[in-house]
Parts: sequence; C-alpha cells; structure tokens
Amino acid sequence: MLLNSTDDRILPFQVEGLDVRGRVVRLGPSIDTVLGRHDYPAPVSKALGEAVALTVLLGSSLKLDGRFQLQTRSDGPIDMLVVDFEAPDRVRAYARYNAEKLEAANGAPTGELLGRGHLAMTVDSGPDAARYQGVVPLEGLGLEEAAHEYFKQSEQIPTRVRLAVAEAFGSGEHAWRAGGILVQFLPDAGEHVRDLHPGDLPEGVAPPADDEDAWTEAKSLVETVEDHELIDPMIPSEELLYRLFHERGVRVFQQQEVRHACRCSDERILGMLKSFSDEEKRDMIDDDGQINVTCEFCSTKYVVAPSKIGIEPN
Ligand SMILES: [Zn+2]
Repeated sequence: MLLNSTDDRILPFQVEGLDVRGRVVRLGPSIDTVLGRHDYPAPVSKALGEAVALTVLLGSSLKLDGRFQLQTRSDGPIDMLVVDFEAPDRVRAYARYNAEKLEAANGAPTGELLGRGHLAMTVDSGPDAARYQGVVPLEGLGLEEAAHEYFKQSEQIPTRVRLAVAEAFGSGEHAWRAGGILVQFLPDAGEHVRDLHPGDLPEGVAPPADDEDAWTEAKSLVETVEDHELIDPMIPSEELLYRLFHERGVRVFQQQEVRHACRCSDERILGMLKSFSDEEKRDMIDDDGQINVTCEFCSTKYVVAPSKIGIEPN
C-alpha cells in the first residue's frame, strides 16, 4: 500500500504576501475505508469522497468540541450525501442513490449527478449547546460551487475550494484517494502582518497593489491545481503548497490527523430500538425471528434478539 507522511492529514497554511489562509487535506486509508464499507458504483463513491474531503476541510477548521455534519438533499440520481465529522479527527459517511437514474446519467459530472436541491451544514456541540445550521442551494454545479456560495452568503469571506477523488491502481490492488484545498481571503488579519513584516516577500517580487489584486492572484493559483496534484501520494501537501505559493512565501502549521470511525455500537443500537413502540418493534422482527439492523454509515450488521428490547416471542 502506498503511504506517505501527509496521508490522512490536514495541513493548515498561511500566505502572508496574499492575505490568505487555508488548509490542504489528503485522504488515503481513511477514505478507502469509508468508501470500501459501502459497495457504491464509482460515480457515487466519487461524489461521497468529495463530500468527505470538503467536510474534513470545514469541520477541522472549527474550534468545536462536538460534531459537524454536511448533508445534501437533491433531485439528481445521487439524492443524498451525509458526512459526519466528529472533533477532533473522526469521519464517517454514506450516500443514497437511484441505480436506474444513475445508469441513465452515465458519465455525467458530479454536479449533474447531485442535481438541484440544497446543502446543509450543521454544527452540534453537545446537548446543552445551540445547533447551528447553514443552508445553501445546490444548483447542479456540484460541491465546490456550493461551498463558494456558502462562504459568500453567510460568512462573506472570499473562498476557493478544489476537491478531487480517484481510484488508484497498483500491483493488482486498488484504493480510493481524495484530496482538497481550501483558501480564504482574510485581509484584516493579513494587513496587520504586512505592516509588521514588509520584508517577508522574497526579493524581486512586488507586493500585490491592493487587496483585490492579492485575492485575484490567490484565486487563480488555486484554480490551477489539477486533480492529480491533490491525490497523488508522491506529491506531499508541503510540495503542493510550495508549487503554488513559493513566490509569496507560504508558512505551514501543525498537521491534524483524520481517520474513519463510526459511533455505532450494540448499546447505541439497543437504545435506538428501545425508543420504538412495542407494535413497531414487532413489525421489525424478520423471518429469522431476529431484528436485523445495518448501520447506514459503516454497513456493520447488528442482530438483536427481540427479548433484548422487551419483546417476548409469540
Ligand atoms: Zn456504524
């Protein structure tokens, strides 16, 4: 298996010369496990992989103690994506799709496969805290565009996101890989830095004339990022950032890890089943006399004897 030091890691960075901050995420074994748990057709895995990369980029930047969830509901062949990020490092995800519609849309880009609807982002920091939800329309243009729209509307922070997902093949094995980069223009923080350190720019590089030029430059650099640069295990995050921003001086911070982990357990499944009425519980009993539950996030199968939830066999 191909592994490198930036796999399953998030690398925050800052480019003082352009007043931008951002993060790069590279997902190797974690995304391969998330997608491998489900047996989705490749276009669904690709869409869900993009959603996972985006969720990790956004969730890991929140200083939160709870859960960040990204969810789409739309009218395309892939009508639902759900990704859970639990601070500080756990991610799990699933998708829902219509096989016939997917077949008919053969080869369409992810944006079209999702179609129109909305993308919701929920921050849940525990039972005593308020839940915060941001919602943005999905317009058939995919997750990158929806993320740009979200930051424009709700945070008013100029933002650029690039996401990539692919299956890597090597020595008879294949593995899913994903990556993403998020860049945000934060001129207020940057101006302060620029006043203090006007000499940070490498010699011979003129500072951008004004904020607008700085953002135009940062944005166009991010748009040059190619999919393979985001997923190639031979291109570490540091190298990608150097390629993009070395003329402006890029600084990186402490990496954060990310891994696949589901929260389901026998206890949670029992707790969930106990919340139903006796009649509903009886309806769930399968022909084998047991209640069979499959976790939609990780596909783990649970077999529960009805007696465990207070139902006696007839
Ligand atoms: Zn699970």
